[in-house]
Amino acid sequence: MALINENYLKLQAGYLFPEIGRRVREFAAANPDKNIIRMGIGDVTQPLVPAVIKAFHEGVEELANAATFKGYGPEQGYDFLRDAIALNDYQNRGVDISADDIFVSDGSKCDTGNIQEIFGAGNKIAICDPVYPVYADTTVMSGKTGTMQSNGYFDGIIYMPCNEANGFIPELPTERPDLIFLCYPNNPTGTVASKEELKKWVDYARTNKCIILYDAAYESYITDDSIPHSIFEIEGAKEVALEFRSFSKTAGFTGTRCAFTVIPKELKAYDSEGNAHPVKPLWNRRHTTKFNGVSYPVQKAAAAIYSEEGKKQVKEVVNYYLENARIMLESLKKTGFTVFGGVNAPYVWVKTPNSMKSWDFFDKLLNEANVVGTPGSGFGPSGEGYFRFSAFADRANVLDAMERIKNLK
Ligand SMILES: *Cc1c(COP(=O)(O)O)cnc(C)c1O
Repeated sequence: MALINENYLKLQAGYLFPEIGRRVREFAAANPDKNIIRMGIGDVTQPLVPAVIKAFHEGVEELANAATFKGYGPEQGYDFLRDAIALNDYQNRGVDISADDIFVSDGSKCDTGNIQEIFGAGNKIAICDPVYPVYADTTVMSGKTGTMQSNGYFDGIIYMPCNEANGFIPELPTERPDLIFLCYPNNPTGTVASKEELKKWVDYARTNKCIILYDAAYESYITDDSIPHSIFEIEGAKEVALEFRSFSKTAGFTGTRCAFTVIPKELKAYDSEGNAHPVKPLWNRRHTTKFNGVSYPVQKAAAAIYSEEGKKQVKEVVNYYLENARIMLESLKKTGFTVFGGVNAPYVWVKTPNSMKSWDFFDKLLNEANVVGTPGSGFGPSGEGYFRFSAFADRANVLDAMERIKNLK
């Protein structure tokens, strides 16, 4: 008899984005004349930049010739890409990470989920609330939790509420976790963590032998020079943290697929007898067993982001989205909303007016302004009463949406 992984039965049906889709489709069917502006899903809208496209084409051409054809590449990624990442994202910023600590992959979504495999089922996981849903769902899939309770929390996960009172930076948990997911700049709140705040977490992890799983997918949106781009800018972090990075939001690779995970050789976890083991060889073993590398043209395209032209072009696109965020932030503030984020991140986190429920505000916005956003409650119970606007949109739509929201009653 074939038995299923019963942990999957504990999961809620994927609810948030399908439900948004359902409500938008229904509205559109009933109101075919309305022009709906979508600022809900966190997907980029601008095309790949010319330097990336050129390298992508060249990579494809190389595959067309016997002399330059490539079959399987190194599972961890080609050296040309790992070297470029280590130099530009770390060493040039004064962070001592070597190319050998970098594992190129097809996405941070996959990496943040797959990483659970190399850690034992006995680990207690701490996550923020609200949060990127992948961390909680993959924790459930890996068998580290009980079922969902009536408060929307899974039994066995340590939730760390992030709200206006704590500036969307969680307090240190009272119950000791083993693995801690942190994401800054944050999705969904658009807020950032200062060096001091991250140091607090690194010190906590060192004292308690925890590991921080740091998601820096939105690192390129940091505009404030004092905000760390990497957890490894914090002293001692290499012994207690690993970092996820992605080209998805940095360079529009959401459909192209390329990301990487950094695991310093200093990072250790423990066996049941308390003996320390380096984490990097475990991930290397998993990665080389279950993954056969990102396609060559895609890695060529990713490496082009680090060329002089590539850097300039990618920065222009990031600035375009950041200008969208600035326009949204300013307009929503002027309209009377309480708003967060949007300065070092492509997301604006809005408090709903008169403590409206997130989904009620969603419906009002859809029906009266024909604008789609994301209900904060979809990211966790502490997101109730909030709403996320994404800056990944065309400028004209942003301006139009803000005008419509201004005229809402
Ligand atoms: C978009 C996003 C990612 C990137 O995922 P990919 O699989 O690399 O596209 C990672 N983490 C968060 C929080 C995100 O919002």
